[in-house]
Amino acid sequence: MTDTISDSSLDEFRARAADWLATKAHQHGWLRTPDGSRRRVGAGDHEAVERNQECQRLLFEGGFAGINWPTEYGGQGLGLREQIIFNEESRKYDLPLVVFIIGLGMCGPTILAAGTDEQKRRYLEPMLRGEEIWCQLFSEPGAGSDVAGLTSRAVLDGDEWVLNGQKVWTSGAHHCQFGIVLARTDSSVPKHKGLTMFILDLRTAGVSLRPIRQIDGGEHFNEVYFDNVRIPADQVLGGVGNGWQTATTTLMNERVSLGAVRPLDDVHSTQALIALAAEKGLTGDTSIRRQLADLWMRETVVGLLGQRITASIMQGKQPGPEGSVAKLVRTDFSNKSAEFGFALAGAGAAAWPAEAPTGDSFANTLLFVPSLSVAGGTDEVLKNIIGERVLGLPKEPQVDRDIPFRDLKGR
Ligand SMILES: Cc1cc2nc3c(=O)[nH]c(=O)nc-3n(C[C@H](O)[C@H](O)[C@H](O)COP(=O)(O)OP(=O)(O)OC[C@H]3O[C@@H](n4cnc5c(N)ncnc54)[C@H](O)[C@@H]3O)c2cc1C
Repeated sequence: MTDTISDSSLDEFRARAADWLATKAHQHGWLRTPDGSRRRVGAGDHEAVERNQECQRLLFEGGFAGINWPTEYGGQGLGLREQIIFNEESRKYDLPLVVFIIGLGMCGPTILAAGTDEQKRRYLEPMLRGEEIWCQLFSEPGAGSDVAGLTSRAVLDGDEWVLNGQKVWTSGAHHCQFGIVLARTDSSVPKHKGLTMFILDLRTAGVSLRPIRQIDGGEHFNEVYFDNVRIPADQVLGGVGNGWQTATTTLMNERVSLGAVRPLDDVHSTQALIALAAEKGLTGDTSIRRQLADLWMRETVVGLLGQRITASIMQGKQPGPEGSVAKLVRTDFSNKSAEFGFALAGAGAAAWPAEAPTGDSFANTLLFVPSLSVAGGTDEVLKNIIGERVLGLPKEPQVDRDIPFRDLKGR
């Protein structure tokens, strides 16, 4: 991959980061598995959660947490460039940080953009220290791609909001203390206008969780039920009725972090697959070579799109539809690399000795990658965005856009 930023003024930061990472990775065993893929953390996996929290705490103590977040909220007050350099250096290792992807990648940036000063002071530093883990509660059984059609309702009662309804696919809620939740607070206006975002303490009475069992055997996401959950009025995030605008900030960060800025560490890298092909004596096989070259090209494109997005963010631009392009290309590479890795690994990918610590990784990755086509915007929805905003095709008809939500059929 040719995705390394080089700028002599930043060399010192890179050297400090590389040095710190090398020392800590060896001390704490944050070394990559031979197949290059990452472990995921399911319900009940308390040890893995603690390991993630320890890693985040060490990053904070080492001065590498919230690198581009303001110092008054626990960050390092440096630029995005330094954050990217740190990401590049940390790719060489396997930092156990998966439980913080949503908090630090989506909830934190939303609080930074839309939160009150009090909210920023209360929540951002504990997030950076790894003390509090966050999730994002938007999707509902009847509202995923069309999240503005959600029906969870919050009603003001004195100085508290009372929340009722259900969310689904809430990643990581079982090990989180907090979440950002989107609810309908006014159904007399069209669907995008009557939403409000709240900061929710998941330990509040009336919140109950049920993990969902997945095809790969894991339980990484949940159904979450709200039964008269009382949320203090000062936990509104971004203003009453502004939920759609606030959620757009979160979703843009989600697409960018899922597609571009986040390293490709949940699937097999081309480099790891080349090593596997060499181990099996297959690097002379023309068909294998062609497939590896194709994967390398796609992986390179993912890296280049990431650089392009990063460059535009560094120029102060808001991430736009290029986040959708990057996520789509990343998903495509992930699916292809998982399929090829599984085939290349042969019988050992389908059945492995119990004592092989990463024997299940090819099967697990193959079963995991289809979810990437759905999480954070489905492939079809991203193609719609690209069609409309990049290619200038006509907009999809939205017949329910201007009708008060309560007058919509079926609501
Ligand atoms: C691994 C994973 C983690 C997730 N984590 C979270 C989380 O932490 N928090 C959260 O809130 N949600 C989360 N989600 C939910 C995710 O955001 C939704 O699944 C996604 O938005 C799709 O919604 P849906 O499942 O309701 O499908 P639907 O929106 O019902 O879509 C069904 C099918 O119709 C297609 N479709 C829908 N609308 C259109 C259209 N306009 N044009 C063309 N085709 C269309 C879709 O592409 C899809 O194929 C997660 C999902 C996954 C898979």
